[in-house]
Amino acid sequence: VRVDKTVVVGGGIIGLCSALALQRAGLPTILLAPERGSAPASFGNAGHIAIEQAEPLASWQTIRSAPRRLTIAGGALGLPPGQIRHWLPFALRLARAAAPTRYADGKAALSVLLAEAMPAWQRLAGSLPRRDLLIERGHIVVWHDPRAAERGLAAWRRTDIGTARFRPASTGECRDLGQAMARPPAGAIIFDNTAQVVDPGIVSAMLEQAFVAAGGERRIGRVRRLALAGTEAVLTTETGDTLQPRALLIAAGVESGALFRPLGIRVPIIAERGYHIQAAGHRWPDLPPVVFEERSMIVTRFESGLRAASFVEFGTLAAPPDPRRWQRLEHHVADLGLPVATPFTRWMGARPTLPDYLPAIGRVRQATNLFYAFGHQHLGMTLGPVTGELVAALLAGQPTTLPLGPYALDRFG
Ligand SMILES: Cc1cc2nc3c(=O)[nH]c(=O)nc-3n(C[C@H](O)[C@H](O)[C@H](O)COP(=O)(O)OP(=O)(O)OC[C@H]3O[C@@H](n4cnc5c(N)ncnc54)[C@H](O)[C@@H]3O)c2cc1C
Repeated sequence: VRVDKTVVVGGGIIGLCSALALQRAGLPTILLAPERGSAPASFGNAGHIAIEQAEPLASWQTIRSAPRRLTIAGGALGLPPGQIRHWLPFALRLARAAAPTRYADGKAALSVLLAEAMPAWQRLAGSLPRRDLLIERGHIVVWHDPRAAERGLAAWRRTDIGTARFRPASTGECRDLGQAMARPPAGAIIFDNTAQVVDPGIVSAMLEQAFVAAGGERRIGRVRRLALAGTEAVLTTETGDTLQPRALLIAAGVESGALFRPLGIRVPIIAERGYHIQAAGHRWPDLPPVVFEERSMIVTRFESGLRAASFVEFGTLAAPPDPRRWQRLEHHVADLGLPVATPFTRWMGARPTLPDYLPAIGRVRQATNLFYAFGHQHLGMTLGPVTGELVAALLAGQPTTLPLGPYALDRFG
């Protein structure tokens, strides 16, 4: 069936921001995704608007530090032996992307996106009924070991943090932070112009409501496959419907790669799986997100409860979760003495990651109506609104505020 509308596939933060921006730009849009609450990464993340992460993780620093970050060494990096056929080719591509010139280009491309991320978030949040979706009061990084604090501060001073700003916390501020845990940190730094969202679940609900209120059409379902009909892409849903839309945007997170395969487009995406635990009842003070850097764990107070998130485990989304990750998070929370009063719920989901840690935003050459926006790795919540704005301009045939060349999928050959 031909539809004279744009179809957006995927109801995570990227699909939602894109669908809303398209609909508001005057392009009638259908959002096709499973029901909300199907727990994609956009639900389970740490909610941190991380404009400070301007250095792509495809770097020699990442590679050098990998052995001591492994879970078997007590760290947060999981390379499960059973998943080696997925992560080994990815690691080799990552190493190539970490070469000095590619790294420098990647950093420039990520930095310009991140520089636009907060203004885009402010525009989006300001346009929605609930103005407190975006809480602009920075975030905090803490260390409990004095030497780790010294090294950590020095490392942050060497890091390119884009448009973000930080300062070391005073002794008094560290003492105050200590009220939220068994013992005060030995050192901390305070970022003042980063942010958090009020709750990822609420963000998704608000975006979906705004999309429908703007006249957008929400369809519950999944795409089974894409195919070409002449020069146009056609999708078939799992219930057997076939749609040939005016424009088709694939924003299906880590599952985007599989959708492109039948068209002969190989996408080297990997599931970078993360875990969280969350307690509805807690006495955690009203603090911005706190990163416990020695434990690679971030704790965020959301409207729905206190969430602790960590781990990067490379493989497939479909592989069963490893319960030891949740146990480790629970151990961290107990060991730090965080004031949690109710049992934890447990979640696992996947960051959609490409080997150079840049997203893919653009259009494919193989079909005249086929576009994509996925691969936002650790930064999807941060980059959702700016991605939506870029996608809307691209599909409307208008100039984009940033050149999209660096994010084109054909960079992978
Ligand atoms: C533990 C953890 C913590 C994180 N913390 C942060 C953070 O603090 N800040 C930050 O900026 N980012 C963070 N991230 C990263 C962020 O969550 C992701 O980058 C982002 O959610 C990706 O959004 P997405 O819309 O591309 O994908 P997803 O959220 O995975 O959504 C994909 C959507 O596509 C749908 N879909 C898939 N296949 C199909 C199909 N065939 N047909 C139809 N629909 C389909 C899915 O059902 C889903 O609705 C974190 C991630 C994790 C795992």
